[in-house]
Amino acid sequence: MDVLAQLNLDFREEKEQEVRINEMRKRASRCVCRYCGNPLTLRKLTYAAYDEAKIEIYCEHCDRIEYGTEPEIYKIAKYYVNKLGFDHYLYMDESVRKTQMNISVICSILEWGYKSIEILGKDGFTVDIHFDENKISDVISFTNTLLEEMQGD
Ligand SMILES: [Zn+2]
Repeated sequence: MDVLAQLNLDFREEKEQEVRINEMRKRASRCVCRYCGNPLTLRKLTYAAYDEAKIEIYCEHCDRIEYGTEPEIYKIAKYYVNKLGFDHYLYMDESVRKTQMNISVICSILEWGYKSIEILGKDGFTVDIHFDENKISDVISFTNTLLEEMQGD
């Protein structure tokens, strides 16, 4: 490969790396951990197998690489698991870890739904949302009432 082509390739890789880090920086400052709900940081991790260092989004609390979720999605998922008793891991004993794994499952389902109707993108929500945490339980009360009415038939 000639020198110009190599320089061009190096420049493109550097540019792609810069774009990736910027996206991760925005994500880390906006999102929370899908397991514990804590804020995320960026961390430089070294992969011995590839002999290279890579910047990753990280949860210091869980001590793991974590892509994260929007804080509103985490709160809705946490409510769903804690108050409605959603349990994807029936075979596991109750533990903090199990609760966190269940919250993470609901976060993924909500993200999938929101992305499929294009109100969630890589930079967060694509529309203005009006998130009032108290409304989460209002919606549930309505559903319970509806269920009772249906059972009364
Ligand atoms: Zn965490």
